[in-house]
Amino acid sequence: MLYLCLMLKLNIADSFNVELPSDPNQENKPRQVENACFSFVQPKKPSKPTLIHASNEVAQLLGISPEETNSDEFREVFSGAKLLDGTTPYAMCYGGHQFGHWAGQLGDGRAINLTEIVHKERRWAMQLKGAGETPYSRRADGLAVLRSSIREHLCSEAMFHLGVPTTRSLSLMLTGDEVMRDVMYDGHPALEKGAVVCRVAPSFLRFGNFQIFASREDATTLKLLTDYTIKHFFPNIKSTGADAYYAFFDEVVTNTMIMLIEWQRVGFVHGVMNTDNMSILGLTIDYGPYGWLEPYDKGWTPNTTDKTNKRYRFGNQPDVGLWNLFQLANTLATLVEDTKPLEASLEKFRTHFAYAYTKMMGLKIGLAHQVKEDLLLIKSLETHLQMAETDMTIFFRLLANVEKSDPAKDAFAKVADAFYDLEKLSDTELKAWLDWFVAYGRRLQKEPIADYERKINMNMYNPKYVLRNYMAQLAIDDANKGDYTLIDTFYQMLKQPYLEQPPYEKWFAKRPEWARDKVGCSMLSCSS
Ligand code: AMP
Ligand code: MG
Repeated sequence: MLYLCLMLKLNIADSFNVELPSDPNQENKPRQVENACFSFVQPKKPSKPTLIHASNEVAQLLGISPEETNSDEFREVFSGAKLLDGTTPYAMCYGGHQFGHWAGQLGDGRAINLTEIVHKERRWAMQLKGAGETPYSRRADGLAVLRSSIREHLCSEAMFHLGVPTTRSLSLMLTGDEVMRDVMYDGHPALEKGAVVCRVAPSFLRFGNFQIFASREDATTLKLLTDYTIKHFFPNIKSTGADAYYAFFDEVVTNTMIMLIEWQRVGFVHGVMNTDNMSILGLTIDYGPYGWLEPYDKGWTPNTTDKTNKRYRFGNQPDVGLWNLFQLANTLATLVEDTKPLEASLEKFRTHFAYAYTKMMGLKIGLAHQVKEDLLLIKSLETHLQMAETDMTIFFRLLANVEKSDPAKDAFAKVADAFYDLEKLSDTELKAWLDWFVAYGRRLQKEPIADYERKINMNMYNPKYVLRNYMAQLAIDDANKGDYTLIDTFYQMLKQPYLEQPPYEKWFAKRPEWARDKVGCSMLSCSS
């Protein structure tokens, strides 16, 4: 028997019933759900569930031992084959702005919350992704395929260990069922292996959960949901009424800003920053067509569905974050009379983000004691990185080897491996780089700490290993052939992304040429 069953189960249905309205119609059939925050649903029974990989760290958060992750019960519960005693799974109702346009009701179309528990005073919701139809599935099947499930499982854990706020992933299972998908939406549908991931987070509430009620002018449910969220997830807020809503929005703004700074720090591109994919807790959520910057390029997006406008490109993520927060402010405005405090929080995002971003970039180049002029150095570095294909992760990692006494030429030689094709640098570009290193060298002279100390700081801030796009694809290709070794290799390696880890050195390498334009490596669609 899973220890989980013995824990204090919050039983979300009960706690929801007290405070939040549920959908009285208990069918999984797709429909519009009015005046309710969630609908009770039953996960689809998988034909032959098999565990591919479990995260022992996440299991432990829930009070499940590493041994228990190999049990039949674990396999059955986290594939949707069997319900934990006394639990009532549910799917949540939400809407969202997709690519800048209001899309109406979306909801948990293929996510089913099993239950919520408290373990060691921390509250966790467990959510299966890909366990079948819900009232919110619209015209889709509620299922997920192996490739996207591997990407979600590995990346959530990699992000956590990088220190980026994120939902976690407990387990990755094959369902034994096949799922039809048209990977590039180009008229070539094919059957793929079905899979289910169990995601774990304090809450999966999104901006869209709040927006849907404002869009329907249902202030009663919006207020219930907002009060519920503040009560359970924002314990610092002691005020009531409008003041509580202002404080709530202000915290969401801060948490979102922190998450976005972290994405820019590690070179993560979410790919689909629709408001339904924005966690109210400021966690990275919904790993779909995401990607990692290899050549530093503010204009890059891995999502081919967004290739025309590139709305969700790397360099645009902060602005989109602000745009999304503006939509949430519009929603909360229906609960208050005076909107000025909400506007003030948005304004704070603008000023604080600029400050925090410069601070973060300064730390990436080892400047612990920043001065005003550093902004110029940082801005010119960004221009330089963009000039010729320069691997972001490798560049910042190698930069830590530069010493104060290095002449510009020697300093540049230390980062040379980060360039995809050094030969392509024109004489003018090379000179620009050398000029930058002259300025950087001068600036380093003013840093009070020693080279070795700066190197340690930089290496704790600039990861050596990230889940490069092609690496995830290699793990997927192997898994499709039944070999899951690489999944565990990457999982283990990415648990310590800032450590040297010599056995994994071969993954500290630029993207291979074959992966440049390969589907799954640099081109991803929302089909998953
Ligand atoms: P996404 O772009 O993955 O964030 O999904 C947007 C909306 O589509 C959400 O409401 C999802 O629940 C829903 N959705 C995505 N894929 C499926 C699927 N295979 N079956 C049902 N709903 C889905
Ligand atoms: Mg989503």
